[in-house]
Amino acid sequence: MTDKTIFQQIIDREIPADIVYEDEQCLAFHDIAPQAPTHLLVIPRKPIRSVSSLEDSDMELIGHLWKVIRNLASELGLDGGYRVVVNCGPDGGQEVDHLHYHLLGGRSMQWPPG
Ligand code: AMP
Repeated sequence: MTDKTIFQQIIDREIPADIVYEDEQCLAFHDIAPQAPTHLLVIPRKPIRSVSSLEDSDMELIGHLWKVIRNLASELGLDGGYRVVVNCGPDGGQEVDHLHYHLLGGRSMQWPPG
């Protein structure tokens, strides 16, 4: 039994994932239960638990994640728009305690979210 999160196990290549992008700071892979035609997860390699755990020194990393999200959306042809979701904590619907950005696209989104 491991106390690693599922995303840490993906980073460490202990479980498979459909990885579409990676660099020295982050990974992007397909969500196992897609909620839209395109549903990627973008995660830092650094084990940050959530938005609430971010440190001031993480801001350059966060900027990098947004750059990767922008580039992926462009490469995937999400020209009509897309949604980026970050769930934080139990009330925010966060299930995996490793910071992650959902990149959702390929359909029209609704508001408000559930
Ligand atoms: P959240 O509810 O914001 O914590 O999102 C966690 C996401 O991780 C959900 O959308 C899950 O479908 C997704 N997920 C869980 N396990 C895996 C996995 N092994 N590979 C890819 N995505 C996963």
